[in-house]
Formats: sequence, C-alpha cells, structure tokens
Amino acid sequence: MAIVDISKIRKSYGSLEILHGISVEVPDGNFMVLVGPSGCGKSTLLRMIAGLEDIDDGTISIAGQVINEVEPKHRDIAMVFQNYALYPHMTIEQNMGFSLRLAGTAKEEIHNRVVEAAHVLGLFDYLHRYPKQLSGGQRQRVAMGRAIVRKPQVFLFDEPLSNLDAKLRVQMRAELKTIHARLQTTTIYVTHDQVEAMTMADRIVVMHDGNIEQIGTPDEVYNDPETMFVASFIGSPAMNFIDGEVADVNDKLTIRLADGAVLELPSHKVQRGQHICLGIRPEHLVIAAMGNGGDGTFELAADIAVVEPLGHETILISTSAYGELTSRAAGKTRLASRDKVVFNILPEDVHIFDKETAIRLIKESQ
Ligand code: ADP
Ligand code: MG
Repeated sequence: MAIVDISKIRKSYGSLEILHGISVEVPDGNFMVLVGPSGCGKSTLLRMIAGLEDIDDGTISIAGQVINEVEPKHRDIAMVFQNYALYPHMTIEQNMGFSLRLAGTAKEEIHNRVVEAAHVLGLFDYLHRYPKQLSGGQRQRVAMGRAIVRKPQVFLFDEPLSNLDAKLRVQMRAELKTIHARLQTTTIYVTHDQVEAMTMADRIVVMHDGNIEQIGTPDEVYNDPETMFVASFIGSPAMNFIDGEVADVNDKLTIRLADGAVLELPSHKVQRGQHICLGIRPEHLVIAAMGNGGDGTFELAADIAVVEPLGHETILISTSAYGELTSRAAGKTRLASRDKVVFNILPEDVHIFDKETAIRLIKESQ
C-alpha cells in the first residue's frame, strides 16, 4: 500500500517562502494531478518527494514511512521529467535497463523487466534501435520505460508531455492513463495544463502561490469550485465573473448588479450589502433567441464583439453592462460582431463568491 502522505510541507529559498504548509494525502494506486500556474511551487513539491530538495518543515511519508531523511535512491520512487535525456550511444534496451544495471540487478532480471516494460509501452520492436532513430513520442515512452522497469512504489511526473506537439500530447495522455490502469502504481503528476489535469486525474490538487486551493475529483473542481481562483483556472474558456451586491436575504437571495438590475438566486449565507461575484460558465450563458430560457431564468443583455468559430462550437465574446462575457454555442452561428443578444441563465448554474475573500459562499440549506 503506497499511500503518499504530505503533511504541512514548507519550503523557502533564502528569505522567500515558496510553499506555505501543503497537506495532501495521495491514496494507494491513485493518479493525482498537481495543477497550477507556472511558479506556484509544483516542481518544488515534487522534487521534495523525490528527495532532490530538502524539506524545511513538515513530513512526507510513503507507505507509512517518513522519508524526510531517507536517501533519494532508497525512497523507491521513479521520476519522469519534461526534459528526459536519453543516452544517445545506448540502445533503447540499454537506456531502459541502465538504472537497474547501476543498482547491480542481475542481467537476466534486467532483460526480463525491460521486455515486460517494452510490451506495456509498445516499444518491443524498437529495443535495438538508438534514441535518434525514434520519434518524439517513442522517446518519451522510453523515458517512461526507464521509470517502469524499476517497479517503484510511486511514480512522479513533472510536465512529461510539455515538449510534445499538440496531437502527440493528446495521444500520450490516453496512453499514460492506460498504463496507469494496468500498473495501478500510485502516481503524482505535475502540469500547468488544466486539460491534462481534467482528463487524466483521479483527483486534482489545484495549487496557487504555494498553497492548495482545492483538492477534488475533476467533476468536483469543475462543478463546485471552492474559490474564484479554481473557478477561473479550471475550464476553458474561463468562467465569467459579474460583480453584485446583496440587496436582500430571505428564503431567496436578491442580488443587485452594476446597472441596477436585480436577480433572485437560491438563498446563501450572506449579509445584506455584502459585495459578491457571480461566476457563470460560458456554456451556461444560453442565447435566448435560440428558443432556450423559460421560467426561473434571468436575462443579461450583451453585444457580440468577437465570434470565434472552432468547427464543433463557436466561442462568442460579448460586451455588456457587467463587463466582458464569454459564451459558447454549439456548431456554427449566424451571429456576427455588433449583434445584440440576450443570454438566459438558470439560477442553479450561478456560483456565488465573496468579493473580498474570493471564497465560494455556502448555500443556506448546506
Ligand atoms: P512550478 O513548478 O509550479 O512552475 P517551481 O516549484 O519550479 O514552480 O517554483 C516555485 C517558485 O520557487 C518560483 O517562484 C521559483 O522561481 C522559485 N524557485 C524554484 N527553485 C528555486 C531555487 N533553486 N532557488 C530560488 N528560487 C527557486
Ligand atoms: Mg515546474
């Protein structure tokens, strides 16, 4: 059982604290993705788990053993980086078996493990080639093969797909998932790409400025973001935010918007006069003229500014009394720049955040 328990981890470089007390438990066999913008401390945390950085404060344990003071090579983990350097003068087989050879593993055992990993990765026919004779995706698989042959308790990945072109990245995403389903090794995967996080993770850890904003399944972080940061970071195009003020709280919550418009939402734990932000995903701004809407929805008027056709859908960027609004429409649209539209919105699709703390407000019933 390789549960990875990260508890109250802190890290500073000089006087600057980079990680401010990070705690997260990675369940056995889980594929956990750490996601956040560049510079938020993902690699630093991963390198601390690997033993490449000292732990200033807090503990990390793997399978119940605190590993703070354990040598990297005795932690029984394997790490795959973005810049995987293969040895150019070694065959794929030698590259994949290299760490086992260093560890003094018997030749036959090395061969067996390399062949087994090569089958998992679809590299069996390439074992006698040299790195320069492989494509970028195959080389990335070799880098993974080097980790797999060691049969570690934990895999650590640091943006392993960032150097690949877009198409290959999509393919490797699916391959990594398949490999994980087969090996079931506890995995911590770092990326700045929320699509990778959403598509690959069992659980996502959203990081921001050295703190954890939210831990949850892809469904939870998308549908129930706990902070405005998570709401805006997960999902593309990003969630729209509209400023408002609480006008009244009874069994309904009455919000007053910038232009004086008033709308009613399910009751939340708020106070009259409190400044809030309404978060609305682009897919929840539904153009009224298309025959949607109905009872209980509220309306926002806007002017189309930019139409971005993507083939399967069209992204519309509009201006409104509440600021810029981004929406999506299925397929093609006849709408053009300067057209006037009305968006219908269902009250239950609106997320409500406190303007000051940027934290989601709790529903009265919860
Ligand atoms: P991420 O992987 O999320 O992009 P990093 O963990 O690489 O972020 O870096 C987090 C912060 O720590 C950044 O501000 C970075 O500049 C700083 N940092 C990382 N390594 C060092 C170092 N060796 N010395 C000083 N600052 C560092
Ligand atoms: Mg990094």
